[in-house]
Amino acid sequence: MREPIIGLPTYNPFNGEPDFVMRQSYCRAIFAAGGIPLLLPLIEEEGPLRRLYDLVDGLLLAGGGDVAAEFYGAADSGKLTLIDRPRDRVEIALTRWALAEGLPVLGICRGIQTLNVAAGGTLVQDIPSEVPEALKHRAGPPKYAGDYIAHTVTVASGSLLADVLAVVAGPEGLSTGVNSRHHQAVRDVAPGFVVTARADDGVIEGIEAEPGSHPFALGVQWHPENMVPQHPPMVRLFSRFVAACQG
Ligand code: MN
Repeated sequence: MREPIIGLPTYNPFNGEPDFVMRQSYCRAIFAAGGIPLLLPLIEEEGPLRRLYDLVDGLLLAGGGDVAAEFYGAADSGKLTLIDRPRDRVEIALTRWALAEGLPVLGICRGIQTLNVAAGGTLVQDIPSEVPEALKHRAGPPKYAGDYIAHTVTVASGSLLADVLAVVAGPEGLSTGVNSRHHQAVRDVAPGFVVTARADDGVIEGIEAEPGSHPFALGVQWHPENMVPQHPPMVRLFSRFVAACQG
């Protein structure tokens, strides 16, 4: 079988340079799992964007800055950073096609948020100011290594995520350690989606399409691309996603 092509919408870099960029870690994780990453420029015109969409066997929504609040019907609380509206528009359009047509989608960090917003959900705009007694969810470079385990998540038994990660149940249920570098999270989960993982402070760390409604539409709030190859559950996450893209 031929390797599936996974489309990764790029973004405008935070330094303002006129480039479309993507971190290598996502591309390498996809490639290591048997897929071929294809970077997608932010072409907003519907016809050409659709041509790009038609090239890919799956969609990976990567990490990055905050989704602008108007895309989920909220006012900007003043805590949003690194907004990139062209990226928001392109990713939301691609994701809605993927959800409607059964194309596999994996959302990572900002990507779980984009997935939720595209499907009609809302976001916590800033965890420290909105979630009482929140854990430390911002533990990334340069102070912490990319694979630093910041907290655990409890995974809903019977979910696709639990099956994919294949974590072993302990006294606290299905749980696994994850890295964490986000200040936003899913607030109201989108219609047609269920919560599949939470941190101990209640912050949502995983969502997926309701069972049987889509072949693979799943988001995680952590960064599995920085946990491969050393964490087998995260290797399985990419393998299963690529396998779903294979059809
Ligand atoms: Mn977290």
